[in-house]
Amino acid sequence: MVLKQQLDIRILAIGTELTDGQVLEKNAAWLASRLTEMGYRVLEHRTVSDDRSAIEQAFSEFLRSSDGIVVTGGLGPTSDDFTRHCLAKVLGRELIWDEPSWAKIAARLSQRGIPVTENQRAQAFFPSGSEVLLNSAGTANGFWLEDVGSTRFVAVLPGPPAEIAAIWADGLAAKLKALAPRMADRKLLLFKTIGRGEGLLATETERILDDLEAESGVSRIAVGYRANVPYVELKFWLDQETVGLESSLREKVKAAFSDVLIGEGDFDFADRLLNVVASGDSVSIFDNVTEGLLLERLKSRFAVLAPLLARPVSLFAGLTYQCGGTMAPGRAGVVCEVVSMPGSQWDILLTVRAGEKETRKEFMLPGLARVGSPREGFNERSRRWAAELALRFWSENV
Ligand code: ATP
Ligand code: MG
Repeated sequence: MVLKQQLDIRILAIGTELTDGQVLEKNAAWLASRLTEMGYRVLEHRTVSDDRSAIEQAFSEFLRSSDGIVVTGGLGPTSDDFTRHCLAKVLGRELIWDEPSWAKIAARLSQRGIPVTENQRAQAFFPSGSEVLLNSAGTANGFWLEDVGSTRFVAVLPGPPAEIAAIWADGLAAKLKALAPRMADRKLLLFKTIGRGEGLLATETERILDDLEAESGVSRIAVGYRANVPYVELKFWLDQETVGLESSLREKVKAAFSDVLIGEGDFDFADRLLNVVASGDSVSIFDNVTEGLLLERLKSRFAVLAPLLARPVSLFAGLTYQCGGTMAPGRAGVVCEVVSMPGSQWDILLTVRAGEKETRKEFMLPGLARVGSPREGFNERSRRWAAELALRFWSENV
């Protein structure tokens, strides 16, 4: 088979709760960003209601024009869930009973004291030729079909986002990676910046790439920009030809963006503290500076992480957050403080206490963040910077 340069993906989200506006469709974006990262090209997101003809029409069209199809929703046991039936019909395939899936469903239901009913048997049928995708976070297993006519794969997943994340981590990601072999040769360099807009960042980055291209005679490095609040991410993909430029690229980026570069790699400074909370320990934050932006930041990151946790956790089960006030002596768990002191040599003073150990450090905000007059009260930009510096310092010292 001739390997195509591009593999074009279409994503289909199924559910009347999506088309009638009850639930905001989020699966396609979640999947698309991961597929894009792997090197696939996502051409279309489509959302259809639980309507057989709409679903069948989408399948027929997608199968004619896509290298890969990812479907979410409609794998439940109720009479409005018939994704598997529609796909089988369009493909002219039978639905085949899968005993291990049924054993899993029955075990899961009885564990939870839920009676096993006849309609649940539907969830153990899959179009012939399917490989079952085990769902460790819910009853409905997904399934995978390869080489369906000219379409390389069809992946069919349940609707709930946490179940998709589980199937993804348990094997779907590996399958998709294996089908995007060109990407194995590509190396991703990711830089997180804060405080400068995408437009300016891109102008300077393009200049760096111009220079590198002129100096080395090697073709241009692929670049991408993504606003991922509060960061703007800079991504470079190095291939076999450009991989030799890695260290000079890194040096140039560090020199050009020293004032806005906050780190390299795929990380989030909030994760360390959130993991402490998720593991059942306590975190107390005394915040004299950000006027709640720190809490906002922790909450929005937690919303991303929570569905991936093995058990449900409430952020506030372990987090105490106080605006103003000072670090209480003898408080248990991890205790963090960010304070400012008008008239001092520094902008913010950060402290973290974990067990016996206490670490403090004074920070000046970078020039860009010190717009206006920080000492007379921080403006919003300064406060965001202060929150990020605090999260970084705490994550390194907890
Ligand atoms: P089950 O019924 O076994 O939970 P299912 O595959 O039938 O699985 P759906 O009934 O389609 O899943 O969806 C279950 C719930 O998952 C929806 O009510 C909705 O809250 C959420 N959900 C489904 N699809 C999406 C989507 N595309 N984006 C965001 N949330 C979704
Ligand atoms: Mg549904």
